[in-house]
Amino acid sequence: MLFSDYHNHPQGHRDLPYTKEVLEPWAKYARKVQLKDVALTDHGRYHPGINLDEFFKFRDSVKDVKFKIGVEIDNDPETSKADYQWMEKNYNKLDFVLGSVHFIDDWPYDHPAHKEKFNEWDIDELYGRYFAEMKNLINKGFLDGLAHVDLIKIFGHRQKKEIEYYVKDVLKLIKEKGLTVEMSTAGWRKPVNEQYPQEKIIEMIKQMDIPITTASDAHTAKDVGYGYDRLYEMLKKYGFNQVAVFDNHKMTLLPI
Ligand SMILES: [Zn+2]
Ligand SMILES: [Zn+2]
Repeated sequence: MLFSDYHNHPQGHRDLPYTKEVLEPWAKYARKVQLKDVALTDHGRYHPGINLDEFFKFRDSVKDVKFKIGVEIDNDPETSKADYQWMEKNYNKLDFVLGSVHFIDDWPYDHPAHKEKFNEWDIDELYGRYFAEMKNLINKGFLDGLAHVDLIKIFGHRQKKEIEYYVKDVLKLIKEKGLTVEMSTAGWRKPVNEQYPQEKIIEMIKQMDIPITTASDAHTAKDVGYGYDRLYEMLKKYGFNQVAVFDNHKMTLLPI
C-alpha cells in the first residue's frame, strides 16, 4: 500500500504562521488514511510563516506518523530569490526540497484567473518553454525531487508533438542528478482530470529507473493521501515496487 505523501501545504494558499492548531489536523487526517510518512512542503513564497521550531515540536509530539519538513521552491520572478535564500539558510534543517515551475515569465499559468492567456500561445512553443524552465530550475541545484512535472496541461491544453519530445531531456537530467519525480493525484481535482504525470511519462520514468515519491499536493488537511487507492493501482500497472522517502535530504527506497 501507499504510506507516504511528500507534497502538502498546511498554509493553504497564504502566509499562515505554523502553530499547533495549523499542524495538528495533518496528523489527524494522515492517521485516518493510514499514512506513515508525510512531508510538509509549503510554498517558498510563504516562508515567513514556516516556523521550524513549531514544526519540530509538532513532529516530536506525533508518535505514529513520521512528519518531515520541506519546502516547494519555484521560479516565481518576484519572490524566488528570497525563497532560495531562506531555503539555503535552513537547508540542513529541512528533509526535502521540492522543485516546481509555476511561472512562464511573470505569468502564473496554473492560476484559474489567468488561464485565458493560454489562447495567446502556440501550445507546442509553450511546452518547450515550460520544460526549458524546468531544466533551469534543476540546474540551480538544491532539489531532492520534482513536483507535478507536466503541470502545464492543468487546463487541458495539449501539445501536438509526442510528449517524449519535451520530457526526454528533462528526465535524463533528473536521472543524472539523482532526483525523484512525484506521482501526484492533484490533477484529478483539476480541469485536466488526469494525474501528474500522464501515463506515457510514468512509463518513461519506470524504464529509466527514476525513483518516485507519492503525493496529493493537499492544500487542506482532509486532502492528505487523496486518491491513493487509484494511484496505487496505476503504479502497480507500471510495475513500481518502491517509493522514496527522505530524512535530511537522504533518500531511502521502501517497498509498496
Ligand atoms: Zn506546485
Ligand atoms: Zn504544491
